[in-house]
Formats: sequence, structure tokens, C-alpha cells
Amino acid sequence: MPAKNIFVTQPNLPDLEKFVSHLEKIWESKYLTNKGIYHQEFESKLSEFLGVKYCTLLSNGTLALLIGLKALKLTGEVITTPYSFVATSHSILWNNQTPVFCDIDPANFNIDPDKIEPLITSETSAILATHTYGFPCAIEKISDIAAKHNLKVIYDAAHAFAVEKNGTSILTSGDLSILSFHSTKVFNTIEGGAIVTNNEDIKKQADLWRNFGIANEETVLLPGINAKMNELQSAYGLLQLEIVEQEIANRKAITELYREKLADISGLKLFYDLPGVKHNYSYFPVLVDANEFGLSRNEVYDILRKKNIYARKYFYPLISSLPDYKKLPTASAEHLPVSNKIAGQVLCLPLFGALDLKDVEQISKILMQMR
Ligand SMILES: *Cc1c(COP(=O)(O)O)cnc(C)c1O
Repeated sequence: MPAKNIFVTQPNLPDLEKFVSHLEKIWESKYLTNKGIYHQEFESKLSEFLGVKYCTLLSNGTLALLIGLKALKLTGEVITTPYSFVATSHSILWNNQTPVFCDIDPANFNIDPDKIEPLITSETSAILATHTYGFPCAIEKISDIAAKHNLKVIYDAAHAFAVEKNGTSILTSGDLSILSFHSTKVFNTIEGGAIVTNNEDIKKQADLWRNFGIANEETVLLPGINAKMNELQSAYGLLQLEIVEQEIANRKAITELYREKLADISGLKLFYDLPGVKHNYSYFPVLVDANEFGLSRNEVYDILRKKNIYARKYFYPLISSLPDYKKLPTASAEHLPVSNKIAGQVLCLPLFGALDLKDVEQISKILMQMR
């Protein structure tokens, strides 16, 4: 048993001396926020890195979601997934809209495109889908449905930093995508987020919503919020761009070792790379089938925890089961059988670039010896 605690994730930190030298420049300039030099440089280098036309830096991913809904002028109902982080649906409530839950595809944890159309009503204005664990949604099918019914599409790409499909970033699909740079993500700015889009009008709207709606000193065009990223985070983010590829490479090696060690355990379902997709290895989900494995997901979680290994029941509970959602007509368990089944079986194992391969072997061995 590992003597130390092994957490599910750990932030990837940039070189401290390099950060301090940026801090010295910031101190000298006395310019701390409001689109300073570092902010401008980070915004353009990030767009370039991700292969997208426009990016609006924000203070976190949740405000990115809210501003995304605002920038597209959405009202009424939004078809979304119950199998995501709570912020996905919370943003819909904050925008005075109604979430409509769509069940997910068991192959990739994402909205099942074949279940969207029956949920569309005269009130539906958009689809808000999450690329769960960085697995791309059914982008083409969703885009066809949206075009047919005149709906907007937002992707919650908080897990999908740098994910590509057939050589292009998946972040350019839909009307816009949102990113989170929270410390627990593959790419972090301590707290932070962004909206990315290839549409110039949406970029302009997002910029306005980020900064109180202020267009210039005497013109305030809309009731915006304060969601700005500051100079310290922007400088930190520039340093993250230098190390994120190595982080993803380390995560890939860890993922491959887990896959090798856990391959033949019956009752433990693993997920693999998809053809044509460049993954970012943001999470390592496994599904525990209690009948086959002999222990339930909760029992596996508890045993690991006693051995100082902190896996996460991510995503459990489902958003649709939370107090502000469970009375919605689409929140019932009968309407969401796949989501409910997976939320009861899923466990995300520790995965971060600095995780020792010996610890991965140890965790795998413990899992192997459980049954
Ligand atoms: C982390 C996360 C968010 C929220 O991002 P914050 O930066 O923490 O506000 C939203 N959606 C998903 C899927 C996430 O994982």
C-alpha cells in the first residue's frame, strides 16, 4: 500500500523562476488587469495553439458557459446532458432558462444524438453538450439536427483542451466552445476559462459580456458581468502553454500502463482511443459491473480510499438528481436509463502527469487482487 496519499489529480505547475521573472515585469508595469500585455499575448498564443480563430479569456469556465448563453441571446429551453459537472446545467438556470435532459451514449458518455429530436419543442433554443473526459461528441449529427431545427450549439469543452479529430481542433465545432482552466484540468491558469469560436460576432459579444458591456469610456451596450482574467493568470497561462504537451504525453503513458495492467479484469470496463482522435488523456474512467466484478463501485472506492488512493465518482450524482433539477419532466430515472446506470458504475482513477508509474502499477495490482 502506498504510504503517501495519491489524489485523483494534481496541478501541473510551471517553472517558478520563470513565473517570478514575469511577476517582476508586472510589478514594474503596475498594470494588473484589464487586457494588459500578458493578457493580449496569452489570448493570441492560445488561439494559435488551439487552432481556433478567436478566443476570449475569462475568469473561469462557469462564467464562460453563462457568457456563451448570453452571447448567443438564448432563451427558453436548452437540451443538455445530465452526465457532466454541475456547472453545465447551473449556467442554464443562471440564464433563466430550462434544462432539458437528454440521455447519453454508453460508448462515450456524451449526449446520444438519436435521442435529441424527440426533446425539441417550440421553446428549444440550443443544445449544450459536454465532450465528456475529452471524448468528442457526435459533432456532425448534432450539427445536422441543429441546422434542421434552427438551434444554436454550445460545447462544454472543459475536458477537451487540445483534442483534435481528423487533424482539426474539435473546439471549432458548434457556435462556440467553452474551456475551463481550473487547477484540476489538463491545462490550468489556477482558475480561468475561455470561450473559443470561429465567429467574429460571437467573439465581440463575448468580449462585451466579459467586461460589464463596456464598449468604450462612455458607451455601455449591454448588462455584462465582470469575468476578466488578470495579468498574473495570463503570464502563468503563457508558461502553461510551454509545458502542456509534455503533461499530455505523460498522461498518455500512464493511461497506456493502466490499460495494459487492467485489460483482463472481468467486470471492469475500460475505454480506449477513438480512431482519428488526438486525445488529451484528461481522465481515466472505468466502469465497475458489480455482478461480474464481485464488488460494487462504492465498495471499490472505499477499499482504494482505505489504502490512501483517492479515486473519484465522477459524475455521480447526476445533475438531474439534484434538488433544483429533479422535478423537471426530463429528470426522471426512466427517461435517463444509461446516465443512471453509468453514474452508478463509474470511477475515475488517479491520473496526472507527475503520477509515478510505480504507483499506477500499485493501484492496478490492488484492483486486480480485489476480486
Ligand atoms: C471544470 C468544469 C466546468 C467549470 O469550470 P470552472 O473553471 O471550474 O468554473 C464546467 N464544465 C465541466 C465539464 C467541467 O469539468
